[in-house]
Amino acid sequence: MCRHIAYLGRPRTLASLVLEPPSSLLVQSYAPRRQRHGTVNADGWGVGWWGPDRAEPARWRAATPLWGSASFASVAPAVASSCILAAVRSATVGMPIDESAAAPFTDGRWLLSHNGRVDRAVLPPAPGAESVCDSAQLAAVVFARGVDALGDVVVQVGTADPAARLNLLATDGTRLLATTWGDTLSVLELDEGTVLASEPYDDDPRWTDVPDRHLVTVTPDGTALEALQ
Ligand code: GLN
Repeated sequence: MCRHIAYLGRPRTLASLVLEPPSSLLVQSYAPRRQRHGTVNADGWGVGWWGPDRAEPARWRAATPLWGSASFASVAPAVASSCILAAVRSATVGMPIDESAAAPFTDGRWLLSHNGRVDRAVLPPAPGAESVCDSAQLAAVVFARGVDALGDVVVQVGTADPAARLNLLATDGTRLLATTWGDTLSVLELDEGTVLASEPYDDDPRWTDVPDRHLVTVTPDGTALEALQ
């Protein structure tokens, strides 16, 4: 099970979201506090964000541990964005460990990350997938269907594979969409913006936990939860 995080709001640096908090995604890559499956997330990482006046996101991924990237640590404090999605990976047994299998996956304006696992046999063919990794195949299925159908896809795939864990996180730079299906997700609503994360990156009492089997939508107008069934 990997860890992921996304932010929408007034511009903040990649470092302030991913590296600096006391239990940041960086710390979660070697010492997650709430992870139930796997102990470290050392099989790769990825960060996607929107630059000024850019319709499509920039993306930086690697197949090595986040804690080993001195280059990202150097650049991250110097890059600010109003929308950021990042993930660290603990590969599911049998899945390839290379950059193309690390989230976020992308399609045009969209970024998508998956915490969990799914039996690829229940997924429809996904010719556009970036990797044979289950998460990349699932991302391609979501992109092909349209990300607005994220909740429907999760319910259908979760019904077809009852052992699936399907915590997804997606953004097009204007809103965040997330599902809980078998793993944790927390929300932090700040004056400057909203954070969704697999687990809180600090002990701020404003973090709230999203119940399992829900769809979360974050827009500049607020955060909405909807039960998935
Ligand atoms: N199944 C995905 C992979 O192998 C995600 C794994 C995870 O959530 N740990 O990368």
